[in-house]
Amino acid sequence: MTVTVRFAPSPTGHIHIGNLRPALFNWLYAKKENGKFILRYDDTDVERSREEYAQSIAQDLAWIGIQPDVVEKQSDRFASYDAAAEKLKEAGLLYPCYETPDELERRRSRARALGRPPVYDRAGLKLTDEEKAAFEAEGRKPHWRFVLPNHDGDPFQTKRTEVTWNDLVRGEQSVDLASLSDPVLIRADGTYLYTLPSIVDDADMGVTHVIRGEDHVANTGVQIPIFKALGAIPPVFGHHNLLTTHDGEGLSKRKGSLSIGSLREDGLEAMSVSCVAVLTGTSHAVEPFSDLHALAADFDLTSVSRSSAKFDPAEIVGLNARIVHDLPFEAVQDRLEALGVSGGEAFWQTVRGNCEKVQDAAQYWQIVSGSIDGEIDDEDRDFLKSARSLFPEGDVTVDTWGAWTSAVKSETGRKGRGLFMPLRKALTGLSHGPDMKDFLPFIGRQNSLDRLPE
Ligand code: GLU
Repeated sequence: MTVTVRFAPSPTGHIHIGNLRPALFNWLYAKKENGKFILRYDDTDVERSREEYAQSIAQDLAWIGIQPDVVEKQSDRFASYDAAAEKLKEAGLLYPCYETPDELERRRSRARALGRPPVYDRAGLKLTDEEKAAFEAEGRKPHWRFVLPNHDGDPFQTKRTEVTWNDLVRGEQSVDLASLSDPVLIRADGTYLYTLPSIVDDADMGVTHVIRGEDHVANTGVQIPIFKALGAIPPVFGHHNLLTTHDGEGLSKRKGSLSIGSLREDGLEAMSVSCVAVLTGTSHAVEPFSDLHALAADFDLTSVSRSSAKFDPAEIVGLNARIVHDLPFEAVQDRLEALGVSGGEAFWQTVRGNCEKVQDAAQYWQIVSGSIDGEIDDEDRDFLKSARSLFPEGDVTVDTWGAWTSAVKSETGRKGRGLFMPLRKALTGLSHGPDMKDFLPFIGRQNSLDRLPE
């Protein structure tokens, strides 16, 4: 059986690094198992779903390196959901309820006041045809609930009923169906809540493994009996912890926080975003991997921790720097060209160790190819004049810096920081940066002489 997973975002906003976590967990799982990855847009909420968001999700996934084998849209599949709902109704497992939200809230408050769990009392199941007709005559439209199998034949005598599964992340899990209200599958306006379409799709699309956030654990307890009621075999489930910022705040699509698009526009590498999204909150160190294949090889859902996955957005920049330091020229050639950096492979090798982001190379290219605000302190002026007069003849090579600074050292008696720092600041305008031995040939003779006082 082919392992089949899906990533099922609602296209109601741009995805952020927290949404990328299940996308990558599923993708890496599929890679590891030689399986199939479905991108499914959960767009049953036609009001809030937008085509532009679906496109932005596809673009973000492509940037990360996720290429879905299949793309599906729930809005194309209403006929299947209607058929499933019909099947449940015929089996007496989906029943109409006429309470308004206010009435339901009052019942819940009453139950809480009496110290009872605020579980729906299945009043809808007791309605006679006449009572239903009376509600309809009042203009009320029913919403529809699924009867959870938490009884032995009499739905008003519920009993503890554990639904258990062996979670890929959390191990043995169980949810007591007697502690839950019968889930509403269809709203009064006829629209579907997430639960039923998701089950119908997972069953129809042959999804074998559902890997999603731990905010869906209770849903899983509800969904397993619905799979069974529809005659489908429930998939294997895995629920991972959720990414939060350091103050414990969850990420939200609406806040636009750490959207994949904004990270891309900030010039971060897709792999640093991926490594942080996947490795945070696991027993694995958050460290660089060169590509998703390497990450997949090391990836193991059992290393995901049970507690929340807190991270500091600054970690992405730190990891990005580590990744950039090792990026080969071929990986950045096009981007350097677009930035106007034309120093070729040797230039990239010289500056990459000082780049947090690839675009930082442009700043070093400006130093070698344009004008700079060189810094000269008054007390260094005479020293720099002597240095200028000692600049070696001939081509500037990787040996020039060593030969030049030895000559300057003998002439002026300066050494260490006092020798090197004024030269670096005058020639680059910076107090730190690429190794001067390698950088000087790019700065060249003329720039060097022009930047030193005569
Ligand atoms: N659209 C759902 C969500 O984004 C999918 C959850 C699932 O994977 O089943 O939460």
